[in-house]
Amino acid sequence: GQDQTGAARATPMIAQFIEIKSVNADCLLFYRMGDFYELFFEDAEIASRALGIMLTKRGKHLGEDIPMCGVPVERANDYLQKLIALGFRVAVCEQIEDPAEAKKRGAKSVVKRDVVRLVTPGTITEDALLDPARANAFAAVARARGDGAWRYGVASVDISTGVFTVADCAQSELSSTLARLEPREIVAAETLCREEALATIFSGLGAPVAPLGRDAGDAARRLVDFYGVSTLEGFGALSEAELAAAATAILYVERTQKGGRPALSRPMSLRESATLDIDAATRANLELSRTLSGAREGSLLSVVDLTVTSAGARLLAERLAAPSTDPSLIDARLDAVAFFLEKPEIRASLRAKLARAPDLARAVSRLALQRGGPRDVASVGAALSAARDIAAIFSGAEAPAEIAREAATLATADAALAHEIATSLKDSPPLDKRNGDFIREGRDAELDEARSLRDESRVVIASLQARYSEQTGAKLRIKHNNFLGFFLEAPAAQGEKLLRPPFDSMFTHRQTMADAMRFSTQELVELQSKIASAADRALARELAIFDALAGEILAGAKELQALAQSFSRLDVASALAEVAEKRGWTRPHVDHSLEFVIIGGRHPVVEASLQAQGKAFAANDCELSGDKAGRIAIVTGPNMAGKSTFLRQNALIALLAQAGSYVPAQEARLGVVDRLFSRVGASDDLARGRSTFMVEMVETAAILNCATPRSLVILDEIGRGTATFDGLSIAWATMEHLHEVNCSRAIFATHFHELTQLTKRMARLVNLTMKVTDHAGEVVFLHEVVKGAADRSYGVHVAQLAGLPASVVTRAHAILAELEAADRRAPVEALIDDLPLFKHVAETMQPKDALREALAKIDPDEMSPRDALAALYELKRKS
Ligand code: ADP
Repeated sequence: GQDQTGAARATPMIAQFIEIKSVNADCLLFYRMGDFYELFFEDAEIASRALGIMLTKRGKHLGEDIPMCGVPVERANDYLQKLIALGFRVAVCEQIEDPAEAKKRGAKSVVKRDVVRLVTPGTITEDALLDPARANAFAAVARARGDGAWRYGVASVDISTGVFTVADCAQSELSSTLARLEPREIVAAETLCREEALATIFSGLGAPVAPLGRDAGDAARRLVDFYGVSTLEGFGALSEAELAAAATAILYVERTQKGGRPALSRPMSLRESATLDIDAATRANLELSRTLSGAREGSLLSVVDLTVTSAGARLLAERLAAPSTDPSLIDARLDAVAFFLEKPEIRASLRAKLARAPDLARAVSRLALQRGGPRDVASVGAALSAARDIAAIFSGAEAPAEIAREAATLATADAALAHEIATSLKDSPPLDKRNGDFIREGRDAELDEARSLRDESRVVIASLQARYSEQTGAKLRIKHNNFLGFFLEAPAAQGEKLLRPPFDSMFTHRQTMADAMRFSTQELVELQSKIASAADRALARELAIFDALAGEILAGAKELQALAQSFSRLDVASALAEVAEKRGWTRPHVDHSLEFVIIGGRHPVVEASLQAQGKAFAANDCELSGDKAGRIAIVTGPNMAGKSTFLRQNALIALLAQAGSYVPAQEARLGVVDRLFSRVGASDDLARGRSTFMVEMVETAAILNCATPRSLVILDEIGRGTATFDGLSIAWATMEHLHEVNCSRAIFATHFHELTQLTKRMARLVNLTMKVTDHAGEVVFLHEVVKGAADRSYGVHVAQLAGLPASVVTRAHAILAELEAADRRAPVEALIDDLPLFKHVAETMQPKDALREALAKIDPDEMSPRDALAALYELKRKS
């Protein structure tokens, strides 16, 4: 912060900078000076480091050099992209008056400037800055009192496509609600951002946080104003928290877009769309859209995504991020996949057509923000005709409802508008409208006339070269530059003669160069101004036609967004059919039961990578069905035997099924899962570099507090991050709690062999192990899951495989033998018989004890204070 006195003593320009910067303190300020955006002070230091550009200085402020760096306006997008990827926000400050105006006010006055736009990670719209395959949304968080407790509203806005959703949740669900939206930026009032619990949730999502200095005020008012409606009745029922979040989102849109008004859909509540709840840790661990190391390659999405459009890729990512919990919706989506699987010709022709269709949603959004160009208009035209072509593919085919609906939508595409665009715009028009030359000849008589006037004058000018040369006998050439416009150039020796009569009356001398002289004539000047005014008129006409087309497009923005959605839904369904065929996946059966039967299941990503190496994946079954409570499987086996793969594949199969995809299994029957939890033991989690054991415990706590009998829980090596007995006790207690209290369907991989004994006490527990054989003294992993417990840990064998010196391996064998002998005397097995099962739960679940009986007899309304005191003593005595 620069203070007011600082501003007062600064040069006028720096004073202006400081003033603008103070209103945009949380942004880097791109300050326009001629052909550059300059950055000053701390901004310059940050940007020069982040962009690797030179830091210079310019003048002094308060006796100190002012650090400065700059980026050329032409290449600003490249630099913006880098800064945004790093999570910075940039305020773009332009000159908003002609420098000549400023001069009129006095020699020292500076050109007026203002911020015309904030470029932030969550609000970009330019193709150059966007990832085509990902949604680009920011999330706004607000809070309201509901039923005595705080409720949180989460609004998500993707300006690049106009999608606007809201959700309402308790604080405990805030992390998973946000994680599902994968926001590029999180926006909330500064007061909320400062609360530690919220700050922790936000930082767990890895998106930059934009604190707003003020809250959104009267939320309903703000929405009413933004949408230009008189009441919110047409918006469906939004909760207080949702309203507040939606208003916060709009505040941020207004703040960043500075008067540009994006075509946002009305906020749609996600409450109606029942989705599988997956928290941030589970998402990361299952490597849904990125691997733990951050790469897209190797994620589930990278294997499943065979979409051919960017919008389709975005929708598929969304479906995987938020699978449904509604069996009938899942079934309808599977019907669509099945249709495309049965009709490969329809699928192929659809995909070929879709692949050529442009990104409609993003083009419309740019036009709405006045940032669109001729190419965006052309995209809309191409999309409109593609829509009708695609609708035609389905005529006569008996498509299921899910597809018939999309085909019907596409058939309504505005053919007249498509025709108008096609006949107005030249083929492959430019990105930018600024330089004109994108409207076809024959489209507009006035434009054609202006253009031919311009071109004729050019022809006349070209003819002057020959005429003047002949008249003067000098070797003259017509040339053009920005400073002189059109001029005649003669070699220096011959030019001299044009300065003398009779030619001096006709030719005006303009410039003398080292070896040439430059002249103009009255005729040339006149032609030049004719060209300029004709060109101006032509450009004005082109821009007027552009505006008319853009206006027509925006009038139908809602219908166009609907077309865009139909394209992407068809893309997703046909792409899933493509994957199913390519990888031999089958249709899952999802219903309301608590079944969980997977026969011949495979891990989609591991299988794909093994396939690429020409190796086979060993398919495995998994059965966790139960009537009221699910089964828990304990998986033991040596390292590298395939435990983690088995755990994750079952979670991924459930997730794919509920996302409406076929699954990598011979057969899958699943009772719909409400929440999916997946945790890995601390030592596998080094990449995140936090106090890993603490993280593991926090995450385990979240599972034990939230999992239900409908949930699916995957725990990999819980308790590994601490000392053996600590770890064993925690793993043991966790398992008991899952079995007795949560009653979830769960798979638990562990190297604590002691836990396999628990099946004696817990009815729904089963032991599974990875089959391993000894072949001539060497361990062979079959990657096959079988009933039973592993008898040995094989760790030493793995160490041998890894190339530990033979002497170390031999010594380790000897130590192991000793330890195993000692272990047999260890009391763990005895403990299992002695320790009452999960004592405190057992107690609270025991309905009849003396204390409760006494309590039940008490009726406070009938008691005198004295009786009450006596009863209290009685209770105390019984306890
Ligand atoms: P663990 O968790 O038991 O240490 P992983 O699940 O990490 O073992 O598996 C180790 C490696 O074994 C994997 O990277 C994969 O290459 C291979 N693997 C795992 N499961 C299978 C399988 N079912 N079929 C074939 N190879 C497998």
